Formats: sequence, C-alpha cells, structure tokens
Amino acid sequence: MGIAQRPLPQPTASTQAFWDATRQDRLLIQQCKACSTLQFYPRPFCRACLSEDTGWMESAGLGVIYTFTINHRAANEHMKPHVPYAVAVVTLDEGVKLMGAMAPGRLADIRIGARVKVVFEKVSDALSLPRFALLETA
Ligand SMILES: [Zn+2]
Repeated sequence: MGIAQRPLPQPTASTQAFWDATRQDRLLIQQCKACSTLQFYPRPFCRACLSEDTGWMESAGLGVIYTFTINHRAANEHMKPHVPYAVAVVTLDEGVKLMGAMAPGRLADIRIGARVKVVFEKVSDALSLPRFALLETA
C-alpha cells in the first residue's frame, strides 16, 4: 500500500479567490459588503447579517499567537519528516483568527501573544499555504 496523496485544501467557489491570492503571497479576508463584518474562513454568506454579497479585503498579514500546540506525532505520513512541528491559531490584527503551521524555526521561542507575520509555503503549482513566522524572539 503506497502513501496516499498529501491532504491539501480543495478550493471551492467560496474560497477560490483566497487561494488565488495566497499563490501571489497575499492574504485575503472575506468582508461583507452589506455590514462590513470580516470573517474567516470564507463562506457563501455573512455570518453576521446573512447577506450573500461578500467581497474581500487584503490583510497586512500581521497578528499574535492566540494558542498553539507542538506536534510530536505526525498528523499523517507526509508530516513525519517535519516532527516536531508547531501549529498555531493566530488572531490577525484585522480581528479574525486563522489556524496554520508555524514556519520552520525555534519551537522554544513560540509563545502565546508572540507577534507573527504570515508567510507562504508553495506546496504545488496551484496552492500556497499560509504559515506563521515569529517576528521577535524572546
Ligand atoms: Zn454582513
């Protein structure tokens, strides 16, 4: 039995613009055109007012670590060469939270509240994933 394909996000009608932007190293946040609420992840409608008239704003890609974990057991075969690795939930300065892996770096420096910037890891011609890199080491 061979190793299955690495599990990767599958863009949908709601998320295609987001993934198109990450390929250009840009992070988009969905924004409701009716009430201006920001939301992540992208959905077909605004979770505040249920409007389907949604657009995008570009994030500065800066935030703070809300919480994180360090994985010593790989989530799948493809992550085995990377253990131990950290996964974090980050509150962007714009207010929404997103989850992703930390970029390679010193795990001991990762702290709740640490400033991070979003970087992009190209995983295929079609897809780049947002990662988080520490801005300061304490
Ligand atoms: Zn709305």
